[in-house]
Amino acid sequence: MRLYDTARRSVVPFEPPAPPTEVRIYVCGITPYDSTHLGHANTYLAYDLLIRRLEDLGHQVRLVRNITDVDDSILPKARELGVDFLELAAAETVRFHCDMEALNTRPPAAEPKATEWVAEMIALIEVLMSGGHAYTVEDTTWFDVSTWPAYGRLGGYDTAAMRTLAAERGGTPDDPRQRNPLDFVLWQPSAPDEPTWDSPFGPGRPGWHIECSVMSMGLLGAGIDLHGGGSDLIFPHHECELAQSEAAANRQFVKHWMHCGMVAYEGTKMSKSLGNLVFVSDLCKESDPAAVRLALMRHHYRHDWEWHDGDVDEAEALLDSLNEAARRKGPAGGADPAPFAQRLRDALDDDLDAPRARAVLAEMADAVLAGRLDDSAPGLLAELCALCGISLEPDPPSPDPQ
Ligand SMILES: [Zn+2]
Repeated sequence: MRLYDTARRSVVPFEPPAPPTEVRIYVCGITPYDSTHLGHANTYLAYDLLIRRLEDLGHQVRLVRNITDVDDSILPKARELGVDFLELAAAETVRFHCDMEALNTRPPAAEPKATEWVAEMIALIEVLMSGGHAYTVEDTTWFDVSTWPAYGRLGGYDTAAMRTLAAERGGTPDDPRQRNPLDFVLWQPSAPDEPTWDSPFGPGRPGWHIECSVMSMGLLGAGIDLHGGGSDLIFPHHECELAQSEAAANRQFVKHWMHCGMVAYEGTKMSKSLGNLVFVSDLCKESDPAAVRLALMRHHYRHDWEWHDGDVDEAEALLDSLNEAARRKGPAGGADPAPFAQRLRDALDDDLDAPRARAVLAEMADAVLAGRLDDSAPGLLAELCALCGISLEPDPPSPDPQ
């Protein structure tokens, strides 16, 4: 299998360990303060498809996907709603699980919550402190990027771009207490109504990036086979995770970085602040979740693209044709369908080309319905759909009672 690696900036062989050694994958999870939107679904379905193909190749995959239940976005939302942040997190996590289950995604092997790993975060910051990579000013502790010359190599952005992105995405490049504008927070004081933990650097709460370093290495060890998330996490989140993890562990943190594109709606990137969100739960109420998956498969995971309301109708039509073809009986004399299976697997192995895999499914359904394939084709089509996470309906819809 070949996959694009963000760090190497090219499509390279993905070389997971041979079975029975598990393939260790860490994907940054949600901050549970609002419902799952299509942008999340797009990201998590890409990893789900990857995992299904790896399992199809005989691998065992251990997926860890965290829950960021304490950070700079959940606390203000809990305050606004007048609820405890952990209650908000628990309620939204349940909704997230329902959405992911509806979309037929593989559950992770572990789903750590940041609040349950704070002691380990403090321990990691202490290691960084003793290595000279961190400093505290007025109860805030930063990572000193000048001690890590490789900082910036993952994303490849220049310093000016990193500074702009840091300011947009939760960093504080203009804080005069920092030694360098790109230094990032490891530990910070909590506001009076925010949760707080005691630490050697003063009472407070962790920075966002340290959470994922600790949960990923804590559950998977260093040298993780693949680390992923949306492309908006490349900088600063993953760049910071990488720097502090390698500075602390003194070995390679991640072998392969995989990032997914952003989904736009009504002309701009789907985002909470703009309010242009399409929620998975709403879509799944109106449409078969398998059609939602097929609609997302029209786009390559690395591309940014825009959702249009009619997209799911087109996918419903394809789903109908897949269902009808998978139920078709005979004839016995058509062509062997095996080349379709090979083409589909080749597409997935070519940087997870979901649009090409989807086109193979559509073409195969047409061939079955036109009677051009032998009687093993309907069963094989159902298997290939399952490989892509598309559940077909084994029986036709029951006839109208009248
Ligand atoms: Zn993360």
